[in-house]
Amino acid sequence: MNIGFIGLGNMGGPMAANLAKAGHNVTGFDMADVSIEGVEMAASAAEAVTDQDVVITMLPNGAILRSVAAEIIPAMKRGAVFIDCSTVDVDSARAVAADAEAASLLLVDAPVSGGVGGAQAGTLTFMAGGSDAGFKKAEPLFEVMGQKAVHCGGPGAGQSAKICNNMILGATMIATCEAFALADKLGLDRQKMFDVVSTSSGYSWSMNAYCPAPGVGPQSPADNDYKPGFAAELMLKDLRLSQQAAASADADTPMGALAETLYARFVEEEGGKGRDFSAMLPRFEKRGRG
Ligand code: NAD
Repeated sequence: MNIGFIGLGNMGGPMAANLAKAGHNVTGFDMADVSIEGVEMAASAAEAVTDQDVVITMLPNGAILRSVAAEIIPAMKRGAVFIDCSTVDVDSARAVAADAEAASLLLVDAPVSGGVGGAQAGTLTFMAGGSDAGFKKAEPLFEVMGQKAVHCGGPGAGQSAKICNNMILGATMIATCEAFALADKLGLDRQKMFDVVSTSSGYSWSMNAYCPAPGVGPQSPADNDYKPGFAAELMLKDLRLSQQAAASADADTPMGALAETLYARFVEEEGGKGRDFSAMLPRFEKRGRG
């Protein structure tokens, strides 16, 4: 396939490289001066998407997606597929989908889970929103870049699934970290705490697969001085998106709201920026109730 790829950063770069490695013709564009193995670079976003069968975007946020979409939609050929893999707000995803549909394009919002490691290894999970026709055309590319793709529903459904998932993740990570800090103060050994909880009803991905306590459970960023991994500020971004969506859908999400408040404080006032989101544990270790 002929593919245009806009946004070749930490995630987009390896995703584009994997598509090129699989034999697709990939033309890329990024605002920054980057070069990716197997990808021919274009001078502008519009040039990168002209005459392509598929265009993929992997951009930082909804405002940037909207501005890039305004430039590329008129330059894309009718019937082409526009796959946005960025994590953005549901309203932006739906607005871009409407503009794409009006220009006779098939738009699929397809944010990912799996991080930079998953992008490099081609093992991402895609959660997709859009028409059946769009999903069908995107599916073979999801198979190259990832290991699983779920068609969640119509426009915006992929973003909705992503922020609901990450709202759960933020809340369970905080709960896991505060439980470890409480266990410490109660004199419990951390390994025993892990052995019990990871096989009891308190288990979760945060405890079992990404344990925030160093030296306990499988290897995780806690064992690497909390270097990300998944940075706390990216978790904060996703929690903010979840609360924006909750406000616009009139949904009651008090745990998500509190998780947003705690991560905002952690990132903006408590030195959490640039640290893994599981570094909430040392934050709780330092605190007492008052
Ligand atoms: P990044 O900052 O490394 O990459 C974004 C790229 O977009 C940069 O190279 C930047 O130069 C480029 N860009 C910005 N504005 C542009 C424009 N107007 N035109 C062309 N290029 C432009 O970010 P990332 O880590 O690759 O994340 C990309 C998206 O993936 C985000 O929405 C993020 O939330 C999501 N995501 C990231 C991870 C992760 O672990 N990093 C995991 C899942 C999802």
